[in-house]
Amino acid sequence: MRVNLLCVSVFVLCLAGCGAKKRVLQSASVVRPVDTLKVVDAVVPEANLALDSPIVIVKPFVDTLSPDQQFTERALTPEEKVQEQKRTGIHKGADWAGAIHYDLRKPNFVIIHHTSQNSITQTIRTFQVEHSKVSSHYVIGRDGRVVQMLNDYERAWHAGRSKWGQITDMNSMSIGIELDNNGREPFPDPQINSLLILLDTLKTKYTIPHTNFIGHADISPNRKDDPNVFFPWKLLAERGFGVWYDESFLIQPPFNFNPIDALKIIGYDVSNEAAAIRAFKRKYIIKEVNGILTAYDKTVLYNIYKRYY
Ligand SMILES: [Zn+2]
Repeated sequence: MRVNLLCVSVFVLCLAGCGAKKRVLQSASVVRPVDTLKVVDAVVPEANLALDSPIVIVKPFVDTLSPDQQFTERALTPEEKVQEQKRTGIHKGADWAGAIHYDLRKPNFVIIHHTSQNSITQTIRTFQVEHSKVSSHYVIGRDGRVVQMLNDYERAWHAGRSKWGQITDMNSMSIGIELDNNGREPFPDPQINSLLILLDTLKTKYTIPHTNFIGHADISPNRKDDPNVFFPWKLLAERGFGVWYDESFLIQPPFNFNPIDALKIIGYDVSNEAAAIRAFKRKYIIKEVNGILTAYDKTVLYNIYKRYY
């Protein structure tokens, strides 16, 4: 990775003492995007120059590739793809007035997965081969070892086609945590203990609401079943991650209670009602995972709905 890819060129044009060549500023810090995009040989329009204060034109993340890099046919590296995204994120039809108060967007959800693989080594290899097109911020081994694979602020490819409430791009909103698990086995205590510590850190650091700790199957009920039925959602809810029902206060819902509406309000995509019910039952009913809500299941759903939503 060449350093100049990340280079930001700063041109300070001090106009003091320009004499007869002084030019008039109409809007001190606004430049046309075309100026910022061609800043290497920038010619600042006269109308945009200040009388007595320097104009700092910060070159956006463009024009930093050398010609041979720009025209090469090789695949872009992940870093170059990010730079390309930053370039295309600047709207050419708008003027540019760089803000000074900003930072990176932060995650607001945590999505928990099982890997459906046999070892943490296998999972890491899967995430590092070109063709897999999947990734996760963290992988936690059966022994509790935590491996981070992406900065929390970067967008991992773990959620795929998914929906929660009205959010249809969960990857942009979330941190993905993969638990090393073949999909049919319980999760060992060291693994869950490490998960709880990590969740606590993430919740505090990014102020993530407790309802926003959910599973992959919650957001992709048509396609996914992870984490499996052994995952201790009740324990997590007791620690402040996710929700659980009050087992001592299960009552029949009123006659006008609509369970599908309740699932939808909680966040489930109910375009396939049976799939949404299966996801709900895998998480909260556990013993019987199918697409039919029994009278008991409805008491659980009603309790969660009333308790949190
Ligand atoms: Zn998953």
